[in-house]
Amino acid sequence: MLSYRHSFHAGNFADVLKHIVLIEILQYLCKKPTPFAYIDTHAGAGLYDLQSGHAAKLNEAKAGFEKLRKDDWPELAPYFQVVEHHRASRTDSLYPGSPMIAHHFLRPQDRAFFYELHPRDFSQLDELTRNDPRIQTCQTDGFKGLISQVPPVARRGLILMDPPYEIKTDYETVFNSIRHACKRFSNGIYALWYPVVDRERINHLENRFLNSGLKDIQRFELGMHPDSDEIGMTASGMIVINPPWTLKDTMQLVLPRLSSALGEPGRAFSRCDILVPE
Ligand code: SAM
Repeated sequence: MLSYRHSFHAGNFADVLKHIVLIEILQYLCKKPTPFAYIDTHAGAGLYDLQSGHAAKLNEAKAGFEKLRKDDWPELAPYFQVVEHHRASRTDSLYPGSPMIAHHFLRPQDRAFFYELHPRDFSQLDELTRNDPRIQTCQTDGFKGLISQVPPVARRGLILMDPPYEIKTDYETVFNSIRHACKRFSNGIYALWYPVVDRERINHLENRFLNSGLKDIQRFELGMHPDSDEIGMTASGMIVINPPWTLKDTMQLVLPRLSSALGEPGRAFSRCDILVPE
């Protein structure tokens, strides 16, 4: 079953949170000249035009990225720069997905592995990255791909896991894959995205991490509405294992402001906490 298309949701409030966390980690990895590997287990198509096709149908970016004014967010300058970079090279309504955001930060010594199963999204992504020898794009299962790539040759790396959770077992699979990968690559940075559609599932996922024996786990969440099982995705979050020491401070400043900028007073919320200490 491959019905999920990220093009319907590109630039929404969940992408804003995910991509800010992603950029913070990539910037941290770029501080040292030693190479790193970036593994995107569920990469999507790479670039989305917010003014045409699927994205224009639901217009979710209007309540997400498009609601943010660059001048109000000096601390998010790198985020705006990545988007502008892609807009300048093509059309000014483009929004980059996680692989093209990572691509922007890759240096000659770094490597990236993008996994995407959907044939159309895969071929768009492959087209965008085909000529870059640093990048390997695979139309195979990202959960299995992750295990085959760790530990990376570079021994430093970031794994972004961002499945659509169409298959309910994904809530279990994300945990099992990360735990398995951590056994082989314990000092990697793992960033897992999750949607809050049914809070019970997230509480269960959180408990799996709390009882896993894994250390140094933080969680960042941005909600547009209080929990409800009637209106689809009300919030989304990122669970980060081995986060850069700078991440929590940045997110503590940015998240409450983001929830006010994107949500309604009294309904929107944010959370920033340590799930398991170092
Ligand atoms: N990470 C992207 C971003 O931030 O721009 C968005 C990814 S989207 C939420 C999830 C993607 O995973 C979809 O494009 C879907 O086709 C793909 N997908 C679903 N199951 C997969 C699997 N087992 N392995 C690899 N890709 C998969």
